[in-house]
Parts: sequence; C-alpha cells; structure tokens
Amino acid sequence: MVEDAELPYLRRCVELAAEALEAGDEPFGSVLVGADGAVLAEDHNRVASGDRTRHPEFELARWAAARMTPEQRAAATVYTSGEHCPMCAAAHAWVGLGRIVYVTSSEQLASWLDELGAPAPPVRTLPVNEVAPGVLVDGPVPELADEVQALHRRFHRR
Ligand SMILES: [Zn+2]
Repeated sequence: MVEDAELPYLRRCVELAAEALEAGDEPFGSVLVGADGAVLAEDHNRVASGDRTRHPEFELARWAAARMTPEQRAAATVYTSGEHCPMCAAAHAWVGLGRIVYVTSSEQLASWLDELGAPAPPVRTLPVNEVAPGVLVDGPVPELADEVQALHRRFHRR
C-alpha cells in the first residue's frame, strides 16, 4: 500500500519522466530512497543515446551496488513512473534492493503502446514478481497515472 507521504517521490519520478521526454527520450523516471526517507539518487531514461539498456531502474541498481551495503540496499525503496521491465527487475533483485513502488504497471503501458500503434518491444512485458518473486511491489497509483499516460502519448505521437 502506498502512503500519502510517498507521493512526492512518485511526483518526482513523473517530473524526471517529463525531463526525459524534453531531452528526446522515452518518458521514464525513477528515484532511489534510503530507509530514512532521504533521496539517494535519481535518473531518467537515456536510451536515445543508442544504448537501449539505459533505463533509470538499471542505473539505480548499479548505483546502489557500488555505494550501499547489502543491508542499506534491502531497506531502500525504488520509486518509478513505470513498473520495472524484466531487465531492470532482474538487476534490482540481483543487487538485493528492497521495495518497488510504481505509478503505472507494465500491463497499462503495454495497452497504451498498443493503442498508440507503437512497435512491440524486443523484450516481453512481465510483472516484476514474475521475474523477481521476492520483491515487495506496490502500484499502480491512479492519481498520477493520467500524467504518465499523457507523457507516453506525447512521445509516440510526434
Ligand atoms: Zn527497464
């Protein structure tokens, strides 16, 4: 369950997704938060560089692996505008990060992309727990979903 106190982290993820869009990238943004509630790192999609593995959740997993103890990682939360893809869910689980909170699910994204006539991604869309069964996952968060959907519409309609 997502607490009201967590909404600012999710709003920041949506802002980061909007920044990615402004930079010509796919609109996804994520924030890594420590056990004490401090924002430790944030990032947005950078696949426009040509490297399609540059998802923010993957960058945050690597950031955490390089700088946090296993205990700190397990107690941290990753907030994200869109549910982790299988690659990022695997990276999250391999580095032992804690809970995931997403605004919109992979299932929602897949249906929007289908509606927009976007090409199917090369990797299957799966819920995080299909890839990483031990990770606690919360979402979607309906009050912010429209904003995320609007960003994807803008990206695919230009
Ligand atoms: Zn990903």
